[in-house]
Amino acid sequence: EIIDIANPIRTQAILNQYGLRAKKKFGQNFLTDLSVLHGIVDAAEITADDYVIEIGPGIGALTEQLARAAKQVLAFEIDPQMVKVLADTLHPYDNVKVVEQDILKVDLPQMIADEFGTGARVKVVANLPYYITTPILMQLLRANIAWDNIVVMMQREVADRLNAAVGTKAYGVLTLTVAYFAQAKLAIQVPAAAFNPAPNVDSAVVKLTPLTPATVVAQPERLFGVVKGSFSHRRKSLWNNMLQTYGKDAPVKEKITNALTAAGIAPSVRAERLDLAEFTTLYLALRAEGL
Ligand code: SAM
Repeated sequence: EIIDIANPIRTQAILNQYGLRAKKKFGQNFLTDLSVLHGIVDAAEITADDYVIEIGPGIGALTEQLARAAKQVLAFEIDPQMVKVLADTLHPYDNVKVVEQDILKVDLPQMIADEFGTGARVKVVANLPYYITTPILMQLLRANIAWDNIVVMMQREVADRLNAAVGTKAYGVLTLTVAYFAQAKLAIQVPAAAFNPAPNVDSAVVKLTPLTPATVVAQPERLFGVVKGSFSHRRKSLWNNMLQTYGKDAPVKEKITNALTAAGIAPSVRAERLDLAEFTTLYLALRAEGL
């Protein structure tokens, strides 16, 4: 009889067997609650036709559940000691490939093409290493990959930023970047007791579904540049942040004024008051002024 890896006793036994302890620097908190793992697989709607990308398989608790449900799993793990453990724990599954690599340095479109075929659609599933939640999300969204959904565990505080309402404290660059590409929904709230070791923050599983942006801009990176510049000093007005970005010369000030007028946005407003549509309008108006 197969005992799931996601079991408090088996998890501790595996760590003991290899003389390992969870490494803080790699954000290692292993899931030991099978019902949470089933919840994740269900939220991602994994079927036997699916190609799945996993980030940070650890000792394989989630990977195992994915392997049982999916066609193929491609997992990226930075810790060589975990990769050794995985060779053992995932031995029963022949549809899993573990790559020892830093996910932030992976050329995802290339890896997907190599493993699953050019342009293959994927689902991305992970219990993320919390110390790099934001950079990983940014990479996934901005990388040119075809994804059906992204279902990822993160700290609750970051989850709240993903679908924060305009004007709230949690609303910011991350909210707007995600909003351009995806709809974000809180799928599961997860207590610290579901992990070994228990993290000292609350956790949540978020499901992202792809959106065709209401307004597709030719160079989204430049739109995000405007968003970032506008939030660089949260407490300051849009006007002050823009002077900092573009300069304070009279001709520049005039262009900024023209753009704001054209966009119908008051210079005194703070960035946190603008939604994605308003930022897009502002960005296009700035472009029209040559900024
Ligand atoms: N998936 C396992 C589970 O749910 O029990 C482990 C999740 S643990 C929160 C995060 C995992 O990500 C760890 O195995 C850690 O070593 C790995 N990791 C950390 N930084 C990484 C990076 N830059 N690239 C790939 N994996 C990373």
